Amino acid sequence: MKLIRLSLFFIISSVVVAAQNAPVVIRAGTLLDGKGHVLHNVLIVVEDGKIVRAEPNAKDQRSQESVFYDLSRMTVMPGWIDLHDHITWHFGPNGHMEDKSETPSQAALAAAGNAYTTLMAGFTTVQSVGSPEDRDLRAAIRSGAVPGPRLLTSLEPIEDSKLTPEQIREAVRKLKAEGADLVKIFASRSIRQGGGQTLTDEQLQAACSEAKAQGLRTLVHAYRAAVRAAANAGCTEVEHGTFATQEDLDAMAQHGTFFDPQVGLVIHNYLDNKDKFLGAGSYTEEGFTKMQEALPIIAEMFKHALATKNLKIVFGTDAVAGAHGRNAEEFIDRVQAGEDPMDALVAANSRAAESLNMQNQIGAIAPGMQADIIAVDGNPLKDITAVRRVAFVMKGGRVYKNQAASH
Ligand SMILES: [Zn+2]
Repeated sequence: MKLIRLSLFFIISSVVVAAQNAPVVIRAGTLLDGKGHVLHNVLIVVEDGKIVRAEPNAKDQRSQESVFYDLSRMTVMPGWIDLHDHITWHFGPNGHMEDKSETPSQAALAAAGNAYTTLMAGFTTVQSVGSPEDRDLRAAIRSGAVPGPRLLTSLEPIEDSKLTPEQIREAVRKLKAEGADLVKIFASRSIRQGGGQTLTDEQLQAACSEAKAQGLRTLVHAYRAAVRAAANAGCTEVEHGTFATQEDLDAMAQHGTFFDPQVGLVIHNYLDNKDKFLGAGSYTEEGFTKMQEALPIIAEMFKHALATKNLKIVFGTDAVAGAHGRNAEEFIDRVQAGEDPMDALVAANSRAAESLNMQNQIGAIAPGMQADIIAVDGNPLKDITAVRRVAFVMKGGRVYKNQAASH
C-alpha cells in the first residue's frame, strides 16, 4: 500500500513538472522580428523561457501537452526596451512630487507599482538611470516576487563637477563594486536651467574611459556642446541632445555613439502634470516655460538626427512620475515627428539591445533568444497608436498579460 502511494506520488509530481516545462506555442498573425522584418502566420515555440523556433507559414505544431496562445489577429513583436527610465519616481500620497510625509514602504510600493504598470505596457526591459533605490527593486523583480521588466540600473549618477579626474575614476569603480549595470553621467545642467555643459572634456574622458576599462557602459545626459564632448570621450550613449548641431550629430555617428533623444512624452508629461511637480527642485514656472520652448527645438533636432547617416538612434522615454505605463506614447511622438514606424520600433528592439550589448539575449524573435514577446491589437506600421493596445505580454517565457481572444 505504501509502495502504491509512493508511486502515485511520483506520477503526480512528474505530471506537474511536465506541465511547467511544457512547450508554449504562439501563433502570430503578423510578426515583427525586432530587426526590421515582417513575417506572417508564424509559429513561435518557447521552452524553458527561451525561443526555440520561429517558423513562418508553419503548420500547426500543437502537441497535447503544449500550451497554445492564438495571437493570429495581433501584431507580435519582441518586448520593448526603454533605455532611459526613472522607475522609482512617483507622486507621493499627497499627489505631489515632493511629499515629506511619505513613508519608505509607501515609496517602495509605488516603485513596485511602476514596475508592474511598465511591464503591462509591453516594456520587458528597462534601464533605470539615477537612483540607488533601483537596486532593491531589481532584486525583487529578479526573484519573481514583484512583476516588472528586466531592470538594469546605474544606481547613483556621477554629476559633481568638483571631482578631479582621479576621483571620478574612483567613483566609477565604486559603482561597479556596488552592482551598477552601467554609469550615468550628467554632463549638462537640466533643460530647465539652460542645459550648459557642467563636466569638462577631461572629466568626461575620465568617466567614460574608466567605465570602459571596468566593462561598464556609459550613458551621458547632454545638451549643446556636451553632446560632441561625450562622443569624443568614447561614451556609449548620449541622452536628450537638445540644441545639438549637425556637427554634434555627425560626431556621434562617427564614434558609433548611440543617441537616445526624447521627442515628446517626457515634456508632455511634465506639462500635463505641472501642478504636481511645481515647487520641487528646478520645477519652477520659469523651468516649465523653458521646457515648453524646447519642444519645437527638439522636433527640429530630431529631423536632422533622422537624416544623419550612420547615426544609431535608440529608444528611451525618460519616464518620470506620471509617465509610467505610458512609455509607448514616445513611439507615437517620434512617428508624428517624422520617423518611419518600423524604424521607431526597431530602435526599441534590436538596436536598443545592441546598445546594451545584450543583442544575443533580447530585442529579436529568433531561436536562442529570451522569450520576451508582446502583441498589440492592430498594426503599428499602419497606425502607430496600436502601441497603446498591448494585449499580450510574456517575459522570459512567463505570461503576465493575455487579453487576446481565446478559442
Ligand atoms: Zn532622465
